[in-house]
This record gives sequence, structure tokens and C-alpha cells, in this order.
Amino acid sequence: MNSAEVKYSIVVPLYNEEEVIIETYRRLKEVMDSTGEPYEIIFVNDGSKDKTLEIAKSICKRDKNIKLLSFSRNFGHQIAITAGMDYSSGEAIVVIDADLQDPPEVILKMIEKWKQGYDVVYGKRAKRKGETFFKKITAKVFYRVLKTMTDVDIPVDTGDFRLIDRKVCDALKSIKEHNRYVRGLVSWIGFKQTGVEFVREPRFAGETKYPLKKMVKFAADAITSFSYKPLKIATYTGVAVCVLCFAYMVFALFQSLFAVAVHAWALISVFSLFLNGLMFIMIGIIGEYIGRIYDEAKGRPLYIIDEKEGF
Ligand code: UDP
Ligand code: MG
Repeated sequence: MNSAEVKYSIVVPLYNEEEVIIETYRRLKEVMDSTGEPYEIIFVNDGSKDKTLEIAKSICKRDKNIKLLSFSRNFGHQIAITAGMDYSSGEAIVVIDADLQDPPEVILKMIEKWKQGYDVVYGKRAKRKGETFFKKITAKVFYRVLKTMTDVDIPVDTGDFRLIDRKVCDALKSIKEHNRYVRGLVSWIGFKQTGVEFVREPRFAGETKYPLKKMVKFAADAITSFSYKPLKIATYTGVAVCVLCFAYMVFALFQSLFAVAVHAWALISVFSLFLNGLMFIMIGIIGEYIGRIYDEAKGRPLYIIDEKEGF
């Protein structure tokens, strides 16, 4: 098939997904065949250490609709989906997790909305099954905190499982940011957006590839990419501390006027330790931003591709 004819591109990031990839392929193929329109499935192997690459290659060999990009190492989920979009040629592009937590059948609903004229159709998680209480609560809090911190309207409880029109994909390609929060960038780009609700299923097999460390990095990228509020905390805290200190000074003055003994030492040392702690937090926050500015200044490519198949 000539790639110029491709209507739908399905981007699937893969990191150590040997246990799910065959089933994911089967389900995706079933759904995409049912559209009766030409499509491509782009597997992006994000430096897997298991048999993911081998299996992906063998699927690629026997199905000409399947394409494969393989990174030289693990670059992370957000970069993997970025590469998939960069190499896609469809008129509509769908990003979907490999573990079948995002049911492939929902793609048909997304296509329907796209045909009605929407440029972005995001999947909204009405319910999350088979995930830990910790994951659910942190996700819930994270999306809401982010919402209060930014002026960009990023819908809550939506992941990267979404359909985007070619023009949105091209706009995304023009954004070269390194520490990417893709779903936020899609909101930032604009165009006509809507959502479809779905129930997030348990992982088909294997374990989450998002340990706490990656979750924290992900949340920090999201917040620093879309909000300066953390930097303002220093200003707000400074003002609050000044006001409190002033009030206390007035209070202490009155106490000394009426000759009440003031327990100054304990108070002063606790107070200054507290302020020191705050200082370090502020420096840390500034460091989070500076580190990211440094990443941009270096201007390294977002990813390095080791192998390509089907392109
Ligand atoms: N993933 C990736 N690179 C990574 C981590 C994850 O490409 O460094 C992929 C993973 O294979 C899956 C998707 O990103 O297709 C989402 O990961 P996962 O399902 O483990 O995250 P969770 O659903 O637990 O948040
Ligand atoms: Mg998952």
C-alpha cells in the first residue's frame, strides 16, 4: 500500500511489552480492518530489554500495515509517542497504550467524532479498573492540581489515548520542547476538541512501566511546562512570612511592655530552621525550571532511532 493513501495511523509505544504485544496487535487489527479503510500501525519500541523488538519485527514481516521504529535506548513514553507521530502519514492519528488498558474498540467512536468535524477526540477515563488505589488517587489529584495551576484548558482524567487530525499532528511536530507533556501540548494547540468516555481496563498482562520515579518526572514536566505558579510560591511565602513576623513583633513589644518573659531562643531557632527548609524548597523549584531550560539550550534531538521497518 502506498503510504500516501493511509487514512489512519495508530501509534503504539512499547516498553518491555512482550507479554501483550501479540494480543494488542490482534485486537487493533480486528478494529482497524472493520473500518474498511487503509491504515498503518506504528509500533515504537522504546528501548525494551525483553523480546518486544523481536516479536514486533515478526509481526511487521507478515503484515504490511505494520511499521516499526526502534529507539537506541529508553527515551520515555512521551518521546515514543512523539516519534510515532513524526513518522505517521495518516489523515488522523490515534495514540494508544500497548497494554490494552485503552480499549481499541473506542477508536471507532473517535473516528466517528472526527468524521463529524472534530480535530481532537480525547479519551476520557470514566472509570479505572485494575489499578492500585495509590495510582488512582495520585492521578486524580495530579490532574486537578494541574488544572488550578495553568491557564491552558487541559481536560482532567484524560491520557494520551486520543485521535488527532493531521493538522494537529503537524502543529505538534513544530513544537520541539524536550520535557514534553504531550496531552497538554495538544490542548495548548487548540482546534476543535471533544472527548469520548471509556472505562479504562486492567492491564492485559505484565506490570506498569510507570514506576513512581517516572510518575514524578512526568508530573514535574507537566507542571513546569504549563505553569509558573511554583516559582511564585517564593513571592507568596515571602510576603506571608513578613506579615507574620511583623504581627509577632508587635505582639512581643506588648508582652515586654507588660514585663512578660518571652521564650525567645526556642522560638527563633525553630523559626529559622523552618525558613531554611523553605529556602531549599524554593531553590529546588527554581532548579527544576533551570534544568529544563538547560535541556532546551543543549538542543539535542528528542530521540535516536536504531532501526526502522516498513517505512
Ligand atoms: N512506555 C514507554 N516507555 C516508557 C514507559 C512506558 O513507551 O518508558 C509505554 C508502555 O509500553 C505503554 C504505555 O507507555 O504502552 C503506558 O505505560 P503503562 O501502561 O505501563 O503505564 P500506566 O498505564 O501504568 O500508567
Ligand atoms: Mg497501562
